[in-house]
Amino acid sequence: MMVLDGKIASAAVKQELLEQTQMITQSGNRAPHLVAILVGTNGASETYVASKVKNCEEIGFQSTLVRFENTVAESILLDSIHAFNNDPNVDGILVQLPLPKHISEQKIIEAIDPSKDVDGFHPSSAGKLVQGLPSFIPATPFGIMLMLEYFDIPTKGKHAVVIGRSNIVGRPMSILLSSNIPRGNCTVTICHSHTPNLKEICLQADILIAALGKPEFVKADMVKDGAVVIDVGITRVDDPTAKKGFRIKGDVAYAEVAPKTSAITPVPGGVGLMTIAGLLKNTLQAYKMRIG
Ligand code: NAD
Repeated sequence: MMVLDGKIASAAVKQELLEQTQMITQSGNRAPHLVAILVGTNGASETYVASKVKNCEEIGFQSTLVRFENTVAESILLDSIHAFNNDPNVDGILVQLPLPKHISEQKIIEAIDPSKDVDGFHPSSAGKLVQGLPSFIPATPFGIMLMLEYFDIPTKGKHAVVIGRSNIVGRPMSILLSSNIPRGNCTVTICHSHTPNLKEICLQADILIAALGKPEFVKADMVKDGAVVIDVGITRVDDPTAKKGFRIKGDVAYAEVAPKTSAITPVPGGVGLMTIAGLLKNTLQAYKMRIG
């Protein structure tokens, strides 16, 4: 069984991005610039955004973190996005989700200029992805594709089962794996909360992607011997014995599932790190489209 270590694969992607950024700045151009917008003080969101900013710094990107109170009006947020859309020194804009209930996430996503949509959530990016046109791929599925590439996991002709159909993970993941691209060409089954025979379908998977957000949901009796298992789930589970009072759990019961697999991602240290790698790659792509 091979552990698909996100630290190793993301370090390789980041090294490549660092070298490209150094070449850009050494030739007198400005560095790629990512703006991250954070609303409120949700602990998980704070951690994700801090990590994105830190990773930008590590590879020489410029980053700006803009914070708003939880009570911010939707119109203020939209004004801020419009200002960054019009700023020629900004290449990528991300708004950390989830947003407070009084703000329409869809409106916010659609306000971002598609050429700066480095999270790949804009309907224009999603439509292009479906049609196989160049686009920003949502960072998590993009990161998983980079991971499959890095560890040379064969996908052609395999049966991939994706649990979860969200716009940010499950659905784009299923599109990528079924596309005629490197690390694609799978036959894909997408499962969701109304799938009655989930276990039966999971047992047919050569590649199983768990993205449902239910800690340790995938048990050993749902996984075929030798399958590749990609665990996207990140849930904070209360644990008074842990230093922070919680532990991060994936969607896969790792201890019992791992011995059955040919390859598996750990949580933490797997897909989460690749998500950041995907975001950084999208930001460089946005920069190159802007600067040429
Ligand atoms: P979501 O809540 O938007 O979607 C969950 C999906 O799972 C839904 O489509 C739902 O139909 C399906 N589902 C729920 N219960 C199910 C069940 N019992 N059986 C089958 N399907 C079921 O979640 P999301 O935003 O796609 O995120 C999923 C998980 O991935 C969460 O734990 C989230 O924190 C994590 N996540 C991790 C990363 C990362 O970088 N590792 C990035 C994004 C999301």
